[in-house]
Amino acid sequence: MIEVKHITKIYDGQRALDDVSFTAKEGEVVGLLGPNGAGKSTLMKILTCYIPPTEGDATIGGHSIYDEPLEVRRMIGYLPEHNPLYPDMYIREFLRFSAEMYGVKKSKERVEEMVELVGLTPESNKRIGQLSKGYRQRVGLAQALIHDPQVLILDEPTTGLDPNQLEEIRAVIKNAGKEKVVLLSTHIMQEVEAMCSRAIIINHGRLVSDDKLEHITSQQLTEKFHQVTA
Ligand code: ADP
Ligand code: MG
Repeated sequence: MIEVKHITKIYDGQRALDDVSFTAKEGEVVGLLGPNGAGKSTLMKILTCYIPPTEGDATIGGHSIYDEPLEVRRMIGYLPEHNPLYPDMYIREFLRFSAEMYGVKKSKERVEEMVELVGLTPESNKRIGQLSKGYRQRVGLAQALIHDPQVLILDEPTTGLDPNQLEEIRAVIKNAGKEKVVLLSTHIMQEVEAMCSRAIIINHGRLVSDDKLEHITSQQLTEKFHQVTA
């Protein structure tokens, strides 16, 4: 479970997040929407303990980002916005390294499972630097899933993917969401409709909308987006 409690983030006098609160539970795939600069990546960096909030607190599986950052990091799989990877490493080498950092048992077998799951098999003998953007995203997603985390935080996970890759990766994420909590940011409303059970919109750092997707279509969501972020 993710609990966000009155989070405010101020960078050099600029309010990037302003009193944001929500909770999300296992089985939910929450789409985090908002214009560029709304504060989506900032919120994700706070939840993953990369930066501290200015005010407020958050817990992941009951662990506070302040008091138990190591526990929080253990529980989270994170795909950051620009997907930082080691270009000189081979795919399996990098995934093995990630698995061992998390103390995954049977890391070799786990790496093979992930390669299969995210569809890396045809490229799996390459170095990361030799991969196209879509395949790098798959490596990033495999890295985020490697320790079977309870919570997945994915910052624009599908940018740069072609339409076939999109469908495959969406299916992986949606499937992961059956037993995990997934928080993902995107600009694509159809994607929200295809993967998410809930959509949260932030604008200028404020939470301006929170809807269950069974009650709203992507068309209505687009209209709402324009309305609340105008
Ligand atoms: P989003 O991911 O929704 O596009 P961000 O969270 O990246 O938005 O950014 C929110 C706002 O905070 C933007 O105005 C951005 O310029 C600002 N910002 C982000 N990171 C920093 C930083 N390290 N220092 C100063 N301002 C920042
Ligand atoms: Mg961002």
